[in-house]
Amino acid sequence: MLPYRLRLKRIPPNFHLAIVLLLGSCDAQKADPVPASPPAAPGRPGPDPRAGSPGAPGAAGKRSFVADSKLPNLLLITVCSFRSDHIGAYGYSRATTPNLDAMALESAVFEGAWSNATHTGASHAALFSGLIPGHAGILDIGEPLRPDVMTLPEVMSRYGYRSSGFIDVESNFGAEAAGGMARGFDELQFVPLAQVGRAVQRWVARDRRPWLAWVHIRLAHLPYGAGPPFTTKIEPEVASWLAAVRAPMIDGSHDGVNDAFAGAMAANPVLRENLLALYDSGVHDADAQIGVVLDAVADRRATTIQVVLADHGDALGERGHFGHQDVVQPEVLRVPLVVRAPGIAPIRVPDTVSLVDVMPTLLELIGAVPPAGIDGRSLAAALRGGALPVKPVLAQAVIRAGKANTVRLLEVLVRPPWWLTVDDGDTTLLQLDPARGLVAPPSTDAALFSELEAARAAASAGSEFREVRPKLSMELKKALQKQGYW
Ligand SMILES: [Zn+2]
Repeated sequence: MLPYRLRLKRIPPNFHLAIVLLLGSCDAQKADPVPASPPAAPGRPGPDPRAGSPGAPGAAGKRSFVADSKLPNLLLITVCSFRSDHIGAYGYSRATTPNLDAMALESAVFEGAWSNATHTGASHAALFSGLIPGHAGILDIGEPLRPDVMTLPEVMSRYGYRSSGFIDVESNFGAEAAGGMARGFDELQFVPLAQVGRAVQRWVARDRRPWLAWVHIRLAHLPYGAGPPFTTKIEPEVASWLAAVRAPMIDGSHDGVNDAFAGAMAANPVLRENLLALYDSGVHDADAQIGVVLDAVADRRATTIQVVLADHGDALGERGHFGHQDVVQPEVLRVPLVVRAPGIAPIRVPDTVSLVDVMPTLLELIGAVPPAGIDGRSLAAALRGGALPVKPVLAQAVIRAGKANTVRLLEVLVRPPWWLTVDDGDTTLLQLDPARGLVAPPSTDAALFSELEAARAAASAGSEFREVRPKLSMELKKALQKQGYW
């Protein structure tokens, strides 16, 4: 298939509609127009102390088209379903990620990074807006990004940056783009996998303005790797399960299929080993693609901030769960975050951070001012060896309720070693365990419980939650099912 490109010049409010129309894959919901003078809503740009300086916008937010060759470029690589505990740089025993491991030796490696969501659209909304999903407006697949939310490429464009997203043409990006998570990019390029590196290379060389290039890789996603390098066969039971979870669900969910496979895995360790090998092969494929993209901009290393992260992880049978949609557990929320930047020495950062922190961090690194009222905080001090104040992470997910097309909100506050879950009003305190994931705490401390619950409530305040799911077209549902969604 030939590559194709969407040019998306300055139409942020209805950007998702443009994508939907071109892809023809989703029932679009019309977004409200951006108000001329929005109230102090989350994600609006704050006052810019550099007003009037060359290459920077004024407080009124007018874009500058003046190229500033001193501004660093930004390469942002997101990898879907990329578990940090299956990455060499994070201690995994298999050689799954030679390219990322080599990059990590020259990078800040965040060891305590978490996603704020369990599916791609909501996670990317958090990444690009600095807002938790409930504040960005995207909790569920198909929901639109709030029209008054400012995204990373929109802010960077005000500093003279150009931007492009590079998406594997085989990826189902329709629902995610429909949610507006890519809003603000000058263009999206849907390119065959083998041509992504060359496409990035051509685009960055196009002119002298500083740039933001975003590459989204899905090779670690279901149905995982095709086999090599970590296995040469797919066990029949694993193949059957992979086919079943990519087919239409029965009675509103894949729970029965997953329960049966979890039982089979418990009875036969060979199945679990086979599933892990297939997943690791997918991780290896994703890493190879990371290597291709890093190579594509290798001659610009001295002037380019490079970031590799995951939107979320994936469950591989832990506690009987698989995949990531509706699965709220450490294997899904824990993510890698690796930053290689000019002037930043290699460092391991143990602090607890999350995807909403990435946007303000990158903006500080380029000398830009983040939008006011965002949930994230800059991690730039940690990149330079400083300590960060302790700040818990809030993750949000919507959980299906069968065929009724209704959902409930599930929230998790992560403040290691504590893991506080609020599921439809039921609050549970668990403890993170390095070996077993989650365990019951040794004792119940009422004061700690109250403190954590208050932190969760404060972080979640103002979240928009709708109990009825957005209606998706059958075509989009089928595309999502092939990738293991419902
Ligand atoms: Zn994803």
